[in-house]
Amino acid sequence: MTNEPWLYRISCESEKQLTEHMSVPSNGGLKVDFHTHTADDPEETIRYSSRELIDKAQRLGFDAICITNHNAVSADGYLRDYASERDIVLIPGVEIDIRGKHVLVINAREDILKASSFDDLRRLRTPECLVIAPHPYFPGTSSLRGKMWKNIDIFDAIEFSWFYHRYINFNAFAVRMAAKRGLPVIGTSDCHSLSRFGRTYSLVEAEKDAGSIVEAVRAGRVEIVASPLNLIELGMHGVEHLVSVSMGTVKKLFSGGSK
Ligand SMILES: [Zn+2]
Ligand SMILES: [Zn+2]
Repeated sequence: MTNEPWLYRISCESEKQLTEHMSVPSNGGLKVDFHTHTADDPEETIRYSSRELIDKAQRLGFDAICITNHNAVSADGYLRDYASERDIVLIPGVEIDIRGKHVLVINAREDILKASSFDDLRRLRTPECLVIAPHPYFPGTSSLRGKMWKNIDIFDAIEFSWFYHRYINFNAFAVRMAAKRGLPVIGTSDCHSLSRFGRTYSLVEAEKDAGSIVEAVRAGRVEIVASPLNLIELGMHGVEHLVSVSMGTVKKLFSGGSK
């Protein structure tokens, strides 16, 4: 029962809106995942290619995905065409390290990779992109925590991550902060294995192109579909994630370290 997907109303008007609704009709929006990783990630060891992710997105009926590898924009012409042939919009994106904290930039240009401080990010971000705080209150040094609120002017949205249990939910505080600031909340898979992909995602009321999707999120026209993990899944995926992070750290060390 707990594995059935739940539709969440966007929380930008009040915290209470993020309550679970099993049978509320959705906004009928585009099915989008704004936070995914693939084998093109220079800092993670991931077993599936960007094409395999796009193939899975097609099978699951996604309209748009954003590959947000660490400190690299993985959306060249070939991949965009590959996605487009499958009726999927591939939005260029990146999960960038800012002083060791993760920040998602959606509809990003390569220029954004020059940012190493929050001030750089303020200067380099363009009106066409979305800056999102991923997993801001999750355990781990890469989570923004107080840095998100301190730099809240930069952020257009806050993430609701796939990794949660109905009663163990590190997203809860992020949702409260989003409500306090009136920011939209987006659902993502942050997938490092294909089995994670498709459990939690966003429904965006927009035309099927990157610019329109960005605008719609900024305007709060987004809902979340999320499936809570059960305790066994929570434990299994937690261990899997720790192994992945450790392997990523080793990979980073051997490739010359991060910013
Ligand atoms: Zn992250
Ligand atoms: Zn990530």
